[in-house]
Amino acid sequence: MVRFTVLASGSKGNCAVVSGGRTRILVDAGLSCRELFRRMKLAGEEPETLDAIVITHEHQDHVNGLAVTARKLGIPVYLTEATHRAWMRWLMPRRHMTYAQWLELCRKQAAERQAELDSATQSPDSAEADPEEAEADGTTSPAGDGAAPPADAAMSGASIDSASWATAGRPPTLREDPTWLPAVEYFQAGQPFTIGDIGLSPFTIPHDAADPVGFVLSAEGVRMGFVTDLGYITPNVKQQLRNLDLLLLESNHDLEMLRDGPYPWAVKQRVLSRVGHLSNEAASEFLSTAYDGQARYVILAHLSENNNLPELARVAAERALLGRPSLMANRLVLAEQHRPLASVIF
Ligand SMILES: [Zn+2]
Ligand SMILES: [Zn+2]
Repeated sequence: MVRFTVLASGSKGNCAVVSGGRTRILVDAGLSCRELFRRMKLAGEEPETLDAIVITHEHQDHVNGLAVTARKLGIPVYLTEATHRAWMRWLMPRRHMTYAQWLELCRKQAAERQAELDSATQSPDSAEADPEEAEADGTTSPAGDGAAPPADAAMSGASIDSASWATAGRPPTLREDPTWLPAVEYFQAGQPFTIGDIGLSPFTIPHDAADPVGFVLSAEGVRMGFVTDLGYITPNVKQQLRNLDLLLLESNHDLEMLRDGPYPWAVKQRVLSRVGHLSNEAASEFLSTAYDGQARYVILAHLSENNNLPELARVAAERALLGRPSLMANRLVLAEQHRPLASVIF
């Protein structure tokens, strides 16, 4: 059985659970850990059964609960190297580091780890007090004045196993190192990979982040397209979104509402730009022209609370689908910010 559950979608937090075979993954962790767990339970999912977290890009509404959730569950985080670095910079804005310095740091830490392994020091029982409990749940306050120790990273580029804190006999607390994760795995856009029984095919999207991606996820022969936070639909994105059983597509704003709305001019320009967000009109245009109509479910996502209304998004998409009678079998669903959607089950 394949299950696809949107826990939250919108500029205040994005998060979805995809399960297939024996594997269960989280796509983005934009809610606080506590809220994320609460919504998973509401949706009938057990947080403890999650195998990994996959991140589309480093914007706060996609990573807000990342560190706490990954630490609490002790699971790996999959993201691109550029997204990882951007996320670390966001958490430690005062730590100015060139790429060369960062590489040097990685080299040093890899050597330290090797030295630890060589001296065969066993790390004592480190699983008692939860170091996160004292921290505000899901808040990711930047570290002060370079007092926080450096993030840990391996040179292989494929995997980071942050263990240099083993000398202290425990992982660092959030305060000591807000960027510490139990394990990090890098992927690259255009290079499919698997996590257990789930296949992931990441592709580049145009958005103002370091290295943003969308995904086609597949499990048990079911293909699910996942694309939000994009300024426009590139030819490659169109290509990727074919032969899907489920399509989750951004329908961020109504153009008129955005133009007449409360945002400052610069923010409006950013949203409207080629690396901003997809409007209802652009989503509808895609659905009425390039979309192949294969998906049984179309989920409209990342709706703006200020510059959109669910009914406007729905009507725009419905108009596109109605214009093509072959697409009327598509079930149109709107993802919500404040509560999980009923799971789509295949
Ligand atoms: Zn977003
Ligand atoms: Zn974004």
